[in-house]
Amino acid sequence: MIATVCALCGKNQDTRELYPATFGLKSISHATFSARRVPDQVHYRLVKCDRCGLIFSNPIFSPAEITKFYHRSICTYDEQITYVTETYLASFEMIRRKIPKQPKVLEVGCGNAFFLEKLRVRIGAKVWGVEPGESMVAQAPASVQKHIICDIFKPHQFKNNTFDVVFCFHTLDHMTDPNSFVREAFRILKPGGFVMVVVHDTDGWSVKLFGERSPIFDIEHIYLFNKKTLAQLFRNHKFGVVDAFDLRNTYPVSYWLRMSGFPSYVKEVGQKVLSILGLSHIPFSFPGGNIAFIAQKPR
Ligand SMILES: [Zn+2]
Repeated sequence: MIATVCALCGKNQDTRELYPATFGLKSISHATFSARRVPDQVHYRLVKCDRCGLIFSNPIFSPAEITKFYHRSICTYDEQITYVTETYLASFEMIRRKIPKQPKVLEVGCGNAFFLEKLRVRIGAKVWGVEPGESMVAQAPASVQKHIICDIFKPHQFKNNTFDVVFCFHTLDHMTDPNSFVREAFRILKPGGFVMVVVHDTDGWSVKLFGERSPIFDIEHIYLFNKKTLAQLFRNHKFGVVDAFDLRNTYPVSYWLRMSGFPSYVKEVGQKVLSILGLSHIPFSFPGGNIAFIAQKPR
């Protein structure tokens, strides 16, 4: 295990333990590192920096071990995929008129490229992706697959001033070095280009409602943000903050319940009741605890 430091304060951090670790080293595998699995309350020791409010895991596995888990990880999108795509597209609309008609875009942590493919088909975007999960890249449409680097995102994969937009959805909080991501995003964006990020919110409903049982406290998450700490991270690297807002996600009621922090017996009973009432697949919109964040590289 390796020690981490506050990504905002560095050596000037002022940390205290929030929750002790909940896992035994032997129980961890690539399955624990697979996206959209049912929350299992497996997390590292979590600390909070009282100086800036950032919450992070400490200590963590080495970046090399984590990369290995992600290479073999899987992701089950099933019926949620349409909802997720629509949510991201709605946020993208906010910057669409400020960028070229057929923008050159990169998605870091693109999974099976469902979002990139949508942008390609709908607006003719020229799309690139980076994704460490081998099985997910294998599922990507051929048109996009040739532009996906199957690896974690790291420096020098792309040239300076290349992209109009860099997307990073539910990936920044998985990174062992968020500063490196922001620095690199700045370098590869064209002047005036945008970075659009979605992360869990440590001030969101999920944490208010479930505390330590919130699914955001998870072994996949290393640095966890709120609007203030996220804005600070990007300002530290000369980005201008354009917007930070609560993302309204739309999912079937049964999915909200599945991903909630309720104990499993409550979920089981709840699912049965929803099924009997025929409500399981009713879509429900709620700001469930995700921040959508937009920053711009100065012109
Ligand atoms: Zn700090």
